[in-house]
Amino acid sequence: MLNIVLFGPPGAGKGTQSEKLIEKYGLLHLSTGDLLRAELKAETPLGQEAKKYMNEGKLVPDDVLIGMVANKVADNKDAKGFIFDGFPRTTVQAEALDKIMADNELSISGMIALEVTEEELTQRILERGKTSGRADDQNEDLIRNRIQEYETKTAPVSNFYKAQDKYFAIDGIGTIDSIFEELCKAVDAL
Ligand code: AMP
Repeated sequence: MLNIVLFGPPGAGKGTQSEKLIEKYGLLHLSTGDLLRAELKAETPLGQEAKKYMNEGKLVPDDVLIGMVANKVADNKDAKGFIFDGFPRTTVQAEALDKIMADNELSISGMIALEVTEEELTQRILERGKTSGRADDQNEDLIRNRIQEYETKTAPVSNFYKAQDKYFAIDGIGTIDSIFEELCKAVDAL
């Protein structure tokens, strides 16, 4: 089973590349951002709780995320594999993910990181904001907060996978198709 963590800062292209990977490899897309936005839309208690953080570009508390991902993995054990997009975003979440996978007799095949400069990220997110309808894609301060959260809390997660020899990075700048080609090479080598 191919279980990939697609890693990178907000705006790195994780969502776009996930869609292409799903099509090619038949994996199940587990985007915690999408799951949270669905909770928000349905106005569930979890959604109300998450909203406070998302509206400020901050990370939602680990326990909320870990519970959500544990349910989703347990419900889809028969999938061909998973693409984790936007999760784990802290080392606590990375440790919890290993446990969730082990509880379901699964494991992470590898983390693949899309490397993009900060300058490029802000531009991409603002551009996406014109059509995504996401409030957090339309405000430069919020975008900066999200990148800041990434740098302080999320970037160190790569060390967790490096220590397991499961970390692979590719250049996230270029055309969607050329990046996808590099991504597939990394996936096929897992
Ligand atoms: P995304 O769509 O992945 O950019 O996520 C949008 C927002 O949802 C983030 O800015 C966070 O507030 C929240 N979020 C998504 N995934 C996580 C996560 N793994 N841990 C904490 N917060 C998250």
